[in-house]
Amino acid sequence: MPPVTRYDVDRTALGALLDDEPRYRVDQVWAGLHDQLATPEEMTNVPLALRARLAASLPEGLALTTEATADGGDTVKWLWTLADGSRVETVLMHYPQRSTVCVSSQAGCAMACSFCATGQAGFTRQLSAGEIVEQVVRAARRARDDGRRLGNVVFMGMGEPLANYDATWTAIRRIHGDLGLGARHLTVSTVGVVPGIRRMTHEELPVNLAVSLHAADDALRDELVPLNKRFGLSMLAEACSDYIEVTGRRLSFEWALIAGVNDRPGDAARLADYARALRAHVNLIPLNPTPGYRTRGTSPEGVEAFRSRLAERGVNVTVRHTRGTSIDAACGQLAAGATALASPTRRAVPVAPVAE
Ligand code: SAH
Repeated sequence: MPPVTRYDVDRTALGALLDDEPRYRVDQVWAGLHDQLATPEEMTNVPLALRARLAASLPEGLALTTEATADGGDTVKWLWTLADGSRVETVLMHYPQRSTVCVSSQAGCAMACSFCATGQAGFTRQLSAGEIVEQVVRAARRARDDGRRLGNVVFMGMGEPLANYDATWTAIRRIHGDLGLGARHLTVSTVGVVPGIRRMTHEELPVNLAVSLHAADDALRDELVPLNKRFGLSMLAEACSDYIEVTGRRLSFEWALIAGVNDRPGDAARLADYARALRAHVNLIPLNPTPGYRTRGTSPEGVEAFRSRLAERGVNVTVRHTRGTSIDAACGQLAAGATALASPTRRAVPVAPVAE
């Protein structure tokens, strides 16, 4: 069971914890945690003894292990150690208009996508809702300290959010209700857990849905994203179609361009058909290097050729600029540091041949 940490406590639970305190104290502490993004030690409006009691009974879920910055300070990556020693990473990205935090939903990941560093390291455990919310709080504090404002949360860090559905959804409700971020500023990214997409369709909050597609034919997708063997492309399309119809939200597909693997003209044509039918937006990312997968990312010219093939076929497509490559903070590179990859629990992963 994941631990109960500072942000696992909702308002009712905080009231119960402080049932010997006057009501206004509970309100002060709640506002301290969620509006001021303060630690108990910083809540100078509450008595010292209560601050100490809060610090002891509501332990922080995330202990800072390392912080790294890149892109002139516009990308910040944190490695946190959790109460049981597991490790996760969070990435904050400042853009001119807004800042976005990329949060982890699991320590490790069981989806085993061959080209993804988190997948190569295997699964450790589920995060609690509070451990997810606390990542957002830490990022919001940092954004504030940098004179920015946290505007978006994307579930694109370590783990598969829809394989940790309840904690993910509790966190989304808390981020929306208690931290005040609107549903259109929250994005869940999934490898294609169809039952999870179906559950999301009937949730009250219509968040954005991103699907990590990477292949638009089942044979290739089976190889890149093993979950495709259970939930193939036609099941996935049906679930996505229902999602956009019921929620009115835009769907996006992530496509990591891998040289000679999924960047051929036929791949673009198949992707165009698949995406157009769902009016999906396609985000192209050249594959980032990871230790367990030797194939290279597509060259800049290849990316442009692929982009224009999609655009010619009427697909909305964006080439995403990679952030944080120098600190292993880019898409698919989160692996809780070298220690996670070197740990004895590491699963053996097939190493793909180097593409010429
Ligand atoms: N499990 C969820 C959330 C992780 S999001 C999901 O797969 O959507 C991380 C994103 O980075 C996904 O789109 C994933 O496919 C992509 N990714 C993984 N490895 C990558 C790599 N080496 N280069 C570029 N993108 C990668």
